[in-house]
Amino acid sequence: MKGQEVAGSPARAVRIGVCGLGTVGGATINVLARNGKEIAARCGRPVIIEEVGARRDNPDCDTSRLKVTPDIFAVANNPDVDILVELVGGTGVARDLVLTAIDNGKHVVTANKALIAEHGNMLFEFAAQKGVTVAYEAAVAGGVPIIKSLREGLAGNRIQWIAGIINGTGNYILTEMRESGCSFAEALGQAQALGYAEADPTFDVEGIDAAHKLVIMASLAFAIPLTFDKVYTEGISRISREDIRYADELGYRIKHLGIAQRRGQGVELRVHPTLIPQRRLIANVNGVMNAVLVSGDAVGPTLYYGAGAGGEATASAVVADIVDVARTLEARPDQRVPPAGVALHELGETQVLLQEEVVTSYYLRISACDKPGVMSELATIFSDWGISIEALIQHEPQEGERLVPVVILTSRAREASLCGAVAQIQALHTVEGEVVRIRVESLG
Ligand code: NAP
Repeated sequence: MKGQEVAGSPARAVRIGVCGLGTVGGATINVLARNGKEIAARCGRPVIIEEVGARRDNPDCDTSRLKVTPDIFAVANNPDVDILVELVGGTGVARDLVLTAIDNGKHVVTANKALIAEHGNMLFEFAAQKGVTVAYEAAVAGGVPIIKSLREGLAGNRIQWIAGIINGTGNYILTEMRESGCSFAEALGQAQALGYAEADPTFDVEGIDAAHKLVIMASLAFAIPLTFDKVYTEGISRISREDIRYADELGYRIKHLGIAQRRGQGVELRVHPTLIPQRRLIANVNGVMNAVLVSGDAVGPTLYYGAGAGGEATASAVVADIVDVARTLEARPDQRVPPAGVALHELGETQVLLQEEVVTSYYLRISACDKPGVMSELATIFSDWGISIEALIQHEPQEGERLVPVVILTSRAREASLCGAVAQIQALHTVEGEVVRIRVESLG
């Protein structure tokens, strides 16, 4: 006991204000209460929930012994709060709330990917001016500590590429379509019934949520500013069970991937459905689970896997950030790990490549007439564009069917060349409808 006194008085408690008492807010309060002893030990000081900003009760969370206000800005203005935990979501009120907290000299912990992806550059700049930090581990892949891994665990590497299944809803839908043979609409309906998808699923199924997360990871991996408006984004709503079946036949799975890759002086940033060889671990990440593959020059490929959503899983990441900030509460700002991984003046102006410049292999499904000569027409077009056919499936036509699906895996080609070839194929008299095209990545 005496020794402790000599070493100095115990650190003062860290006081947090939690704004938003929904799925993640409620779970964060529960985790802090349940694991309080361990968390305090890791912080090196007690953690006290000073105030909660919530305009309604959460039946899954007991706040009877906490000070609760319906005005979240009162929390951001409370002089006793050291860390504001923003869990209201969205980019309107949440942005103003975080700015108010920073202006008042408070550190911020947030799970809000949209806020960081769209306003992170400005928020980090403002936080640096005010000598506080913005922590956002929960913003990408929920409970999977991918931010810390990219920023700290892999700090010795030149990161070459990242490929991630970073939207649990989309992954659930693709998994259901493959495992039960249902359509996109049926799988989406199931996801909604189970609470995995919102009533308006656009953000998830059209890839916007994944683009938010990809841009955050790419910024850390390549030390570049957040460039959400430059991400090429394609959703999964046009994936059919037929394509999932053909992919299987070719030895692939269709996954919705966020891919960030260094290429020369630039980087590729793209979110789209992708065929991945079945033997890859990431191809076997199913249901609502998330996984991120990161390849560094020293470490090689590494894989991070876990629950990408859900109250407690996300709270796990929120609390980890609270611990990080609490540990360095009295540190000088330059002694903390910066939100962007490097000081803001170190961020490069890396060019994001246009999608036409991206080079990948492609899966194509062409509805062609069952007539002699069609295959040679296709072969000529591919050869004119410098693209070779790596694999081909053509089954016998069904009884009475005039069209047969021709499924092709191409060699790697520039997207611009592939688009040229596809335009010519679609113009053939022997081809009907739109040519389905899905990119293929080996991720090796
Ligand atoms: P949620 O369940 O909808 O909770 C948000 C809460 O904030 C609601 O209780 C809402 O209250 C409250 N709120 C919104 N505006 C408010 C205001 N002006 N004043 C007072 N309260 C306000 O959302 P969530 O799922 O917990 O998500 C929170 C954040 O975590 C989001 O940024 C989300 O992207 C992120 N996140 C969530 C997950 C997940 O699995 N859920 C995973 C990763 C990251 P009302 O009900 O009254 O509107």
